[in-house]
Amino acid sequence: SKTLHILGVPFSTRTMNETIEELEQAVGQKRSKPFHLITANPEIVMKAQDDAALRQIVQDADMITPDGIGIILASRWKGAPLPERVTGYELLLKLLELGHAGGWSFYFLGADEATNEKAVDTIRVKYPNVRIAGRHHGFFTPEDERRIVAEVQTTEPDFLIVALGAPGAERWIHKHKSDLPAKVAFGVGGSLDVIAG
Ligand code: UDP
Repeated sequence: SKTLHILGVPFSTRTMNETIEELEQAVGQKRSKPFHLITANPEIVMKAQDDAALRQIVQDADMITPDGIGIILASRWKGAPLPERVTGYELLLKLLELGHAGGWSFYFLGADEATNEKAVDTIRVKYPNVRIAGRHHGFFTPEDERRIVAEVQTTEPDFLIVALGAPGAERWIHKHKSDLPAKVAFGVGGSLDVIAG
């Protein structure tokens, strides 16, 4: 299959455009769980070495893309160079563009309240045809968390965008996967902070 193992982590050998094509397919599918994409940096790869729970999360992911030049360099050392970095931030921007054209819906979870609100407002202005299924900041109580899951269940977004840091986002998606009727879910690190400016 289209993977290259680096320290036990099966990295996708797809380009950014090929990755987007896979996600478009996932949006078109009827799924019982979201397609869980992980954009993995060297830190996640290293942590997965001695954190069994994280290793399981990585193994259960539907696709793992190289986020960070360190992973690309490692692939070159192995003589099987991965084509390019596929980062959460770049993926998010491309998916918002496609979402604007195709009317996809997004739920944005994470960052502090002011940042989350500002980022989502910016997205509304820049991509007016993107449907905002909902949003919530990333410093939630267990009670908030139940409401977040319920909101995702009601709105069934195409994309669940999770900005809780790495590997916080990956843990959260994995934990709730079976209760989240989104088509695709992935962590985007500090992307909402960048979009909020
Ligand atoms: N974040 C959050 N809840 C948390 C921890 C972090 O919403 O409990 C957000 C934080 O506000 C930021 C994003 O996660 O918007 C990424 O955080 P950070 O840069 O610390 O994580 P990294 O991706 O660099 O590990």
